[in-house]
Amino acid sequence: MSNPVGLSIFCDFDGTIATEDMISAIVTYALKDAAQPLFERILTRECSIREGVSALFAMIPSSRYGELVSFARERVTIRPGFGEFVAYCQENQIPLRIVSGGFDFFVKPALASFAGIDAIYANTLDTSGPYLRAVWPYPCDEHCAGDCGLCKPSIKRLHEAKRVVVIGDGITDVRIALQADLVIARDALLSYGVEHGLPVARFEDFMDVIAILRREEKELSACLKL
Ligand SMILES: [Zn+2]
Repeated sequence: MSNPVGLSIFCDFDGTIATEDMISAIVTYALKDAAQPLFERILTRECSIREGVSALFAMIPSSRYGELVSFARERVTIRPGFGEFVAYCQENQIPLRIVSGGFDFFVKPALASFAGIDAIYANTLDTSGPYLRAVWPYPCDEHCAGDCGLCKPSIKRLHEAKRVVVIGDGITDVRIALQADLVIARDALLSYGVEHGLPVARFEDFMDVIAILRREEKELSACLKL
């Protein structure tokens, strides 16, 4: 039987599937140095990510939307092994959901050629006014006070899962990682996981992720005598 141990995967996009943070690349391209003060306010936590990102897009005229879509399409690089990883999840009937604090105009085209992703959660941009307006369709539920923008733990709670695997790279993955049975991480999320004693494994590319999942399934199967 496939996926006998009931794994369910929630995977970040920016810096995880995509090799770089696309919001930051897009906003820097559109606003140049004018983006810097807001980036600093986000980094020093003077404002939440939701507030900061909303303010950044509000500086960009809606007439430039098409240009941003083209820029993102050319710029995005998918981390090696991702196609094999999606196929692995599909073959083993492991639900794979993408939870991205980014925007659907660059997340969805980047993932369009990978069949077998169960759901993609991302924010959207409203282009109907003179300036772009960030729309946050997945806010924090009553169990989260993070002002997350797109709230990853709230999305996790929408789905039943026996064993949750979180894949990510940054601080926006911390809240969902704290509720995971296994965290597959790099960069800031890896450091956080090690420091706080989370069940964390390190990855560089998605071939590593497949190897970690295989090992996890084998160990759990032995443990559960499946
Ligand atoms: Zn939240």
